[in-house]
Amino acid sequence: MIIITQPNATEEQINRIVTRVREFGLDAQISRGASRVIIGVIGPEALLREKPLAAMPGVEAIVPVLKPYKLASRESREASSVAIGGIQVGTNEDVILISGPCSVESREQIFSIAKIVKKSGAKILRGGAFKPRTSPYSFQGLREDGLRFLAEARAETGLPVITEIMDPRDLSVIEKYADCLQVGTRNMQNFSLLKEVGRSRLPVLLKRGFSATINDLIMSAEYILSEGNMNVVLCERGIRTFETATRYTLDLSAVPLLKSKTHLPVIVDPTHAIGLRKFVPQMSLAALAAGADALMIEVHDSPELAKSDGDQALTPEIFADLVPRLRAVAAAIGRKL
Ligand code: PEP
Ligand code: MN
Repeated sequence: MIIITQPNATEEQINRIVTRVREFGLDAQISRGASRVIIGVIGPEALLREKPLAAMPGVEAIVPVLKPYKLASRESREASSVAIGGIQVGTNEDVILISGPCSVESREQIFSIAKIVKKSGAKILRGGAFKPRTSPYSFQGLREDGLRFLAEARAETGLPVITEIMDPRDLSVIEKYADCLQVGTRNMQNFSLLKEVGRSRLPVLLKRGFSATINDLIMSAEYILSEGNMNVVLCERGIRTFETATRYTLDLSAVPLLKSKTHLPVIVDPTHAIGLRKFVPQMSLAALAAGADALMIEVHDSPELAKSDGDQALTPEIFADLVPRLRAVAAAIGRKL
């Protein structure tokens, strides 16, 4: 942390600032410029974070040197990869396809879609059993039955499964069946939920809140990491902007930014971002080119009958047609899918 003094700060004020810093158990190094003094604070910055130094007479600004997120920070670790079932996400080389319906609707439905997406190249199966719906009258998910069907689909196809958790009270039942916990956009800042999944043995796919900044997302990841769960994957899924022509606005700049600020794998969900089936393929290709470690794409065998998000789900044919084009883009940027 660096303390910049006001140009007219008196010697007495500067001495008082230095004394205060030392009282906190830190060292202070003074450099005198032409018009102002800069005080470099040496020692664990956390000791000062909550202290009202900025209010002291003579202080103009306080500039943190270290990031507020220690465990997620790129400075703390080289790029990490996260195992979901047996599949590594974030290896720099492989790009992983995660696919499946928005909601698990029946045993037959999830079996059929799991086989379809596997055949086209998906490595992980997704499907919601607890659904965060805007209306309480909309389909809420099959709950434990849905989880069981997902686990049965995994047994049949070998695909590990990701499913959303909305309530800490559901953690133990979800842990019985799933390979990865998804924290959805609406719960990105549900701090009790973040702490709870931070104590789980399962990896966590953390989706960006649709009104959250990149820093907010990283701080939410920090909640999970600080509880001891180091297996966190970040997901850009579209943010709310003034634009209403698409469901959300896919912020692809989040991918390189998150990768430069954190060591965590970064994936993209183009489906929820754009919300329109027709354009999901283009945005998937763009997300891959932007450096996503995985893509999460909703697929449904009868989108017109889907109980949620039918308008954005790819048909099996569109998905099958997209995968070779994704492979070509992966090859062009030195990756493999
Ligand atoms: C989903 O993945 O089906 C979902 C509800 O995602 P989000 O939380 O991004 O809206
Ligand atoms: Mn969905």
